[in-house]
Parts: sequence; C-alpha cells; structure tokens
Amino acid sequence: MFCCEWIVIVPEYQLLSPKFLSQQKNWSKDLLKISEIEESDVKKYLLNSSVPDASSARTYKLSRPFQLKQFVHSVVYFENENSETFSVIRAFCYPSQATNADDVKVIFATIDKITGQPYGGFCTCTVGAVETCGHIGAVLFKAADILATGSVGEQSVTEKLCE
Ligand SMILES: [Zn+2]
Repeated sequence: MFCCEWIVIVPEYQLLSPKFLSQQKNWSKDLLKISEIEESDVKKYLLNSSVPDASSARTYKLSRPFQLKQFVHSVVYFENENSETFSVIRAFCYPSQATNADDVKVIFATIDKITGQPYGGFCTCTVGAVETCGHIGAVLFKAADILATGSVGEQSVTEKLCE
C-alpha cells in the first residue's frame, strides 16, 4: 500500500515520522522557497508507487490525485534545517462531498531539498486494501502548481476553520 506506508530508507528520513512532524511548529507558507517540484517527477513517483493490482492502472494512479487536487488547502512547508536532504510539505485535503470536518485528511509529503523530487509521504486517511490513497499525489500536484505559477493561492477555507 502506498499511502500510509512509512518506508524506512535512511535514518534521516526515518526521523521525519508523522509524530515528529505533527510536533513541529515551524511551518512556512512561503512555498516559493522550495526547489521547484516538477509535475513529471510527481507522475513518476506516483507511477512507481506500489499498489494492489486492481488499482495499478496508470490512469487511476494519476487521475485520482488530479481529481483530488482541487480539495487540497493550506499547503505549508517545513524546511527541516537539520537536514541537508529532505524538506516536508504539509497540507489538508477536504472531503469531496461531505463537509464533515472529521473527514479532513492531513498529508505530509517528503521531498528532496535539492531536486524537489517526491520521496515519500504519509496520510491520515484509512484506505481499503484495494483502494490507493490519492491524497499524497494530490498534495504534490498542488505544490507543483503553486511553484509553477508562483502563486500560493487562497488559504481561506482552513484559516477560517482554525480561527
Ligand atoms: Zn490519503
């Protein structure tokens, strides 16, 4: 499963656990400080992710995150100053239909500090064995959009909720 799996590749990456990240306060809205995230890199990352056979179709892997992209809000960035390798993006994904606040997903996506390449991710959603979580991809596509257009865009929905 791609979404909620936390693959341990290097200790430095291991440190960036969801627990650790939830405790960080130092999130910046200034996404434009990040290295550019290439949409092609996001696609490559999504296509290489391991998913069960039923949902491994290329279109599914890419179209689902694209559909979800519009529900991604409040994209912020954790520079992770102690690391030369990774930065982390955090965002919320709102449910496409219901407006139940409990359905809001929190997504962390780790990217390479230098190249902007997606490295891994974590999402609070629980997905079945057959369905792949598209939230991480949605956040990466959204971040790529923001960096490509140079516009952080509206932050309104979440900020209102948080007040
Ligand atoms: Zn998810």
